[in-house]
Amino acid sequence: MAAAVLLAPVLSPHETASAAGPPGSPRVSDIRAWTSDDYTRVAIDTGDEVSFQANSLPADPTRGLPPRIFIDIRGAGIRQDILRKPVEVRNGLLKQVRAGRFSKDVVRVVIDLERASSYRVFALPGPFRIIVDIDGKPETPGAAPAEARAAPTPPASPETAASPPVETAPEASKAPGPQAAGRRHPVRVMIDPGHGGKDSGAIGPTGLKEKDVVLAIGRLVRERLSRTGEYDVRMTRDSDVFIPLEERTAMANKGRAEVFVSLHINASPNRRTEGISTYVLSRGASNQEDLELAARENGVPVRKLSEVKFIIDDLFTGARKNESLRLAKTVNDAIVRNVSARFSGVQNLGLKQAPFYVLVGARMTAVLVESSFISNAGEEARLRNPAYLERIADGVAEAVRFYGQNGILVRSEY
Ligand SMILES: [Zn+2]
Repeated sequence: MAAAVLLAPVLSPHETASAAGPPGSPRVSDIRAWTSDDYTRVAIDTGDEVSFQANSLPADPTRGLPPRIFIDIRGAGIRQDILRKPVEVRNGLLKQVRAGRFSKDVVRVVIDLERASSYRVFALPGPFRIIVDIDGKPETPGAAPAEARAAPTPPASPETAASPPVETAPEASKAPGPQAAGRRHPVRVMIDPGHGGKDSGAIGPTGLKEKDVVLAIGRLVRERLSRTGEYDVRMTRDSDVFIPLEERTAMANKGRAEVFVSLHINASPNRRTEGISTYVLSRGASNQEDLELAARENGVPVRKLSEVKFIIDDLFTGARKNESLRLAKTVNDAIVRNVSARFSGVQNLGLKQAPFYVLVGARMTAVLVESSFISNAGEEARLRNPAYLERIADGVAEAVRFYGQNGILVRSEY
């Protein structure tokens, strides 16, 4: 089923020969795509901020054209070899991506699809990239992106954080989804150790790097969940490599993960700050610290965070948010409980919400764990202790298991 997706010129070669654009202007420097039978994400890299407009067209049998989405990018050039470069992706919903200069001032990227599908387009800053998420469902303008599903109550634990201050979780409004009893495949879990490669993440006072700690925790979680065969655990990275945030989400969606757990270690200018917290995606945050945390994890200044606000509400509604809130609380409580069994004075900072880019567009129950502050000398020392990391991993695995065994994972709307 593997097939190359060709980036074919929209216009003939002589028409695209001068597509570089004015010196110093933004330009389309890369087009990346991830696709499966019913999901596609396309990322268009422009480096600097550009204005763009998206539209779709139905199939045109008389001209032999499939359904397509096109993105017009104003005031940008395009790297010459993109016009010829094939992009290797697996076959699926995506047929082909074409790019070329549509007019003197506009670069057009055309996404040819196997079938008409609903889609969303948004941009992430730092560096600027346009993201096109195509969900494989028939295009239905104005339709709600996710259905609300009922879900059982999380395990016995204090309920004080059930409704975070930022937003109230919407009440589930439909009948329960398929239960675990009918499940025929292992629960698909995507573990996402944050950062990697050139991105060290936060660094502790004695030099411990977040990227190394979260990879170690991720491997421990995978080992724990993989023991019984009930969980199909994958990792966005299993080595010290850099992976863009939007690619991590795409990997989870493409792999039809049912649970996405992004692993991070917090940091604060206040070296005394300590504790464990777990986040779900939200368009805002309840305090400046959480906004600064999201900005740091997103690799952008705080002022850039507002740019994805509109899309977060659109993408993340109904039961998936409920599920994520429940899983986040379960994960956090389980980590604190497991760590506290061996270590003293562990602070439970609880369930929180903030605009993390890695969670934007995730089609499954998705949480982001900030397990301790690497900026705190005491917690940094603990993070060097394998026993501490094992307890954190125990907590994550225990919480995911609770969800799998209780059948309250929403089967994604694939
Ligand atoms: Zn991080």
